[in-house]
Amino acid sequence: MALRFHNTLTGDLEDFRPLEDNKVRMYTCGLTVYDYAHIGNYRTFVFQDILRRYLKYRGFEVLHVMNLTDVDDNTIRASQAAGISLRDYTNKFIEAHEVDRELLSLENPEIVVRATDHIDDMVKLIQTLEEKGFAYRSEGSVYFRVEAFKPYGKLAKIDFSGIRAGARVDSDKYDKADARDFVLWKAAKEGEPFWDTPLGRGRPGWHIECSVMSMKYLGETFDIHSGGSDLVFPHHENEIAQSEAATGKPFVRFWLHAEHLIVNGEKMSKSLGNFFTLRDLIAMGHKPTAIRYLLASVPFRKQLNFTFDGLHQAQQSVDRLRNFRFRLTQGKFPAGENKELQAKAEAARRAFEEALDDNLNTAEGLAALFDLVRDGNTAMDRGKFRDGDRGAFLDTMERWDRVFAVLDDNDRAKLRRFGFVKSGEEREARAAAVVGNGYTSTVLVEALNDEEIEKHISERNAARRSRDFARADKIRDELLDAGVILEDTKAGTRWKRK
Ligand SMILES: [Zn+2]
Repeated sequence: MALRFHNTLTGDLEDFRPLEDNKVRMYTCGLTVYDYAHIGNYRTFVFQDILRRYLKYRGFEVLHVMNLTDVDDNTIRASQAAGISLRDYTNKFIEAHEVDRELLSLENPEIVVRATDHIDDMVKLIQTLEEKGFAYRSEGSVYFRVEAFKPYGKLAKIDFSGIRAGARVDSDKYDKADARDFVLWKAAKEGEPFWDTPLGRGRPGWHIECSVMSMKYLGETFDIHSGGSDLVFPHHENEIAQSEAATGKPFVRFWLHAEHLIVNGEKMSKSLGNFFTLRDLIAMGHKPTAIRYLLASVPFRKQLNFTFDGLHQAQQSVDRLRNFRFRLTQGKFPAGENKELQAKAEAARRAFEEALDDNLNTAEGLAALFDLVRDGNTAMDRGKFRDGDRGAFLDTMERWDRVFAVLDDNDRAKLRRFGFVKSGEEREARAAAVVGNGYTSTVLVEALNDEEIEKHISERNAARRSRDFARADKIRDELLDAGVILEDTKAGTRWKRK
């Protein structure tokens, strides 16, 4: 089966082929950097990560551009409230976002760009639109003349022919009912940052930045543009209008939109108390790989209902996969091969690929591997698994994990690297930090580091070998007190933190 995507523009499932050879040019709308990103943002970013990883898995070369919106109504308002410059303010949240991305194993796009580094390019595109009659000035601002672009509404599938000509909207975000001429360049307001340009003193509207930065790095027509479904209108509709009016060429071939995340069946909002940033969940002790797994588990065009039960199950699922891989690599099996089992490993790989080919059906992609894990465990329990079967199973798991990226138990290392984990001696400091700075500082405490745990386990193994079970049990209990759980498996002793 060919790789197929649901294209918002046509409303159809379509076979995907890039415009040029096997090179995919892709743009994703990144974060507006005025606060820590919430899990709804990361639902979309995890989907886009699965998308780019799977394109690479399928042998495509990916050129992915992501923007960071570091000037808009929100960033300006927030930086003014904080009393620092827009650049300093947004830098802080860009750094936080980079850390979050790494925690969630999100690959870095080939090109990450900031809106404020492209003001000159935006001015040029607006000038082109003016020259072609698609833009006009009013009171120091420049607006897009929606009436002049006949296909307006083709992405959002709305007929805008009845709107009042000349009515204007200055806000970056607005509803379909307010659709009218939108702002390309906003006249400078008292106390706001501005750029002195041939268009006058002011700043760009939100929509123009994505038209400019995507075409600058990817060309006037490129393969994939993606974002959350809330961006279809007005943001992406306006991007199409700006870009196609300026170039006279189709802007984007495939539009891919991820549906919303809701929490316990309700819209996530601060007023309902169900609003979570990634850091909130980490502060509660949840692990980034479990969060990634949960966010990846629902196909992107379906709404994702986030619950803590679901997150708990995601952690169990990740543990189950890792435990199986541990058994696979460390277990002792009779020599030989079981061709029937190897065929199952191969079939699971194909099932995973067919699921992802089908508009990135991640739910089926996960199910394919769990079927294999069940078959593998059963065969091992019954003594049917052979030493020569490891390779086929590991191969399927490795391929699967190139896309899902949850098998490596790297949460602790990452959390420690970014200062989210402190050793036991730093408990006091942690308590102070949490009081002073909320969850953004130290959030997890380790009484023992990894090396100390390994040392205790080898002492326990020595005690067991000399049949000193009282001592072995005592070490086990001490580790439990320190938040470390031991699992004695046929393949040896594993440990994990509570
Ligand atoms: Zn955008």
